[in-house]
Amino acid sequence: MSELHGKRALVTGGSRGIGAAIALALAAKGADVAITYERSAERAAEVVRGIEGEGRKALAIQADSADPAAIRRSVDAAAEALGGLDILVINAGIALYAPIAEIGVDTIDALLDVNVRGPILTAQAAIPYLKAGGRVITIGSAGAERIVGEGATVYFMTKSALHSFTRGLARELGARDITVNLVQPGSTNTDMNPADGDFAAYQRSLMPLGRYGEPEDVAAAVAFLASPAAKQITGTFLTVDGGALT
Ligand code: NDP
Repeated sequence: MSELHGKRALVTGGSRGIGAAIALALAAKGADVAITYERSAERAAEVVRGIEGEGRKALAIQADSADPAAIRRSVDAAAEALGGLDILVINAGIALYAPIAEIGVDTIDALLDVNVRGPILTAQAAIPYLKAGGRVITIGSAGAERIVGEGATVYFMTKSALHSFTRGLARELGARDITVNLVQPGSTNTDMNPADGDFAAYQRSLMPLGRYGEPEDVAAAVAFLASPAAKQITGTFLTVDGGALT
C-alpha cells in the first residue's frame, strides 16, 4: 500500500514499543521515517533496518525529549535528512508512579518535562516545516479519561494536558490545512506495560474485548489519522483500549 508515498514522518520515541510500531506502519504505507530515541541505540538501529526493509529512507536520532535544545536539533535533523516534514508523531513518554502524598519534585518535573513540555516544544520546532495536508498526532493515554489504580495521578494528568494541547493546536493550524489529533492507547503490551506484568490481569478484566492491545493496534490508528482519508478529522481523540472506557 502506498497512500503515504512521498510523505516524510518523524516519530519521537521510536526505538521500542508503540513508537517503533508506528514508525514501521508509516513506512509500510510508503512514508520515509525518522525516529528519535533516548538510550536504545541498538533497538533504534533495528527499527531503521525495518523501515529500510520496506524500501523507505530512515534515520535514528538520539534526542532526549526532556531537553529543549535536543528536541529542536532532532526535528531540524529529521527535516533536513528527509527533505521536509509532513507527519509528526509525538510518542515519547515516560510513566513514573507515586501517590500525590509521596511524589517528589524530581519525579513531577521528569513527567512534565517529557510528557507535557516535550510535545509543546516538538510541535513548535516542527510547525515551520509542516505544509498543507500535514499531520500532528500525539500519543496520550486512555488513563486521562478514567483513572485506573492508585499512584498514577500525575502521569495521567500529563496525558490529560494533551487534550487541550490537541484542541488548541488544531485551532492554530487549521487555517493551514494541518490536522492535529490525539491517539489514546489503553493497556498495550510494551516494556512500559507488559501483558504479563503484575497488574496485567486486572487491566485485562476492565476490557470488554478481554485482551491486551499490541503496539500495532495503536500504530494502525495513527496510520489512519496520517492518511489522506482522515483529512477532515482534527482536534479529536481516538481511543484504542479494547473498550476499557465503556
Ligand atoms: P516504552 O517505554 O515501551 O517505550 C518508550 C519509547 O519512548 C522508547 O522508544 C524510548 O526511547 C522513548 N523515550 C522515553 N523517554 C524518552 C525521552 N526522554 N526522550 C526520547 N525518547 C524517549 O513505552 P510505550 O511504547 O508503551 O509508550 C509509548 C507512548 O504510549 C507513551 O507516550 C506512553 O505514555 C503511551 N501509553 C502507553 C500505554 C501502554 O499501555 N503501553 C498506555 C497508554 C499510553 P529509549 O528506547 O531510548 O528509552
